Amino acid sequence: MRIVRRRLAAAALLAALAATAAPARAQTPGTLDPPPPARAVTPALAATLPAKELFGGVRSATPGPAQAIGFYSKGCMAGAEALAVNGPSWQVMRLSRNRNWGQPAMIAFLERFAATVPKVSRWPGILVGDMSQPRGGPMLTGHASHQVGLDVDIWLTPMPQRQLSAQERETMSAVMVVRPDRLDVDPKVWTPSHVAVIRAAAQDPQVERVLVNAAIKKALCRDATGDRSWLRKVRPYWGHDYHMHVRIGCTADSPMCKAQEPVTGGEGCGAELNYWFSEGVLHPRPPAIPPKPKPPMMLADMPDACRQVLLAR
Ligand SMILES: [Zn+2]
Repeated sequence: MRIVRRRLAAAALLAALAATAAPARAQTPGTLDPPPPARAVTPALAATLPAKELFGGVRSATPGPAQAIGFYSKGCMAGAEALAVNGPSWQVMRLSRNRNWGQPAMIAFLERFAATVPKVSRWPGILVGDMSQPRGGPMLTGHASHQVGLDVDIWLTPMPQRQLSAQERETMSAVMVVRPDRLDVDPKVWTPSHVAVIRAAAQDPQVERVLVNAAIKKALCRDATGDRSWLRKVRPYWGHDYHMHVRIGCTADSPMCKAQEPVTGGEGCGAELNYWFSEGVLHPRPPAIPPKPKPPMMLADMPDACRQVLLAR
């Protein structure tokens, strides 16, 4: 009896941990098992299932011209392209997630940026994390944005010289760049190449924002020499301590793409950065009354055109 109760308590604890842990971050290992069979989306399912289950189950892009539809955190995409899993200076990680899809402008950015990296740093290339699903939309695990094919996570770990195996792409971890006390980068990990790679991303004319941990922004503010105007695009954000999130702008051929506010202000190295190291931000206290979980986004909450994207054969 006691053993049973202990087992139940252990199971409850595991369930609680699973519920609180943010799932499918860059570090979460993937699998080499074949994916579950794709489910045909019917209008009845489209009306009842959360949008993340609908878009998360789709395996193929729609044919036809590329379109980013809606906003980065509430939208979808048509005519997506897949990034090749191997390029001259990039390799895609976690292939089992099938998230190497994006707008043609995103594919072009990644090809351009990956080619730049070995020229400006000691990195042979980049490791590409999550982009978007074949038709964009919300995901079953991780990410509020990445929905319209204009966001990508790039690991802050250099690509190795050799081609990684399928197994390694599922299990390898990125290297944590931030020091354990979260107040700065880890000097054993951080190198001038990190600065050069992040700068190259931010200097790309198509890139509107690069999100990194505040400790990384602090290091960039300290280490950047010469032209520092690119620093304004690099914004502190929670997490992002072993990858950077790069966001490019809407393109003119996607009239339904909703642009975000342009970045304003200066380098962002002053008081606005100090805020991120205040006690309440570094060690937030859980609220006395836990907030009610938000209802999941439904297809009806999304731009109308996303319905056609989802149901297209
Ligand atoms: Zn991201």
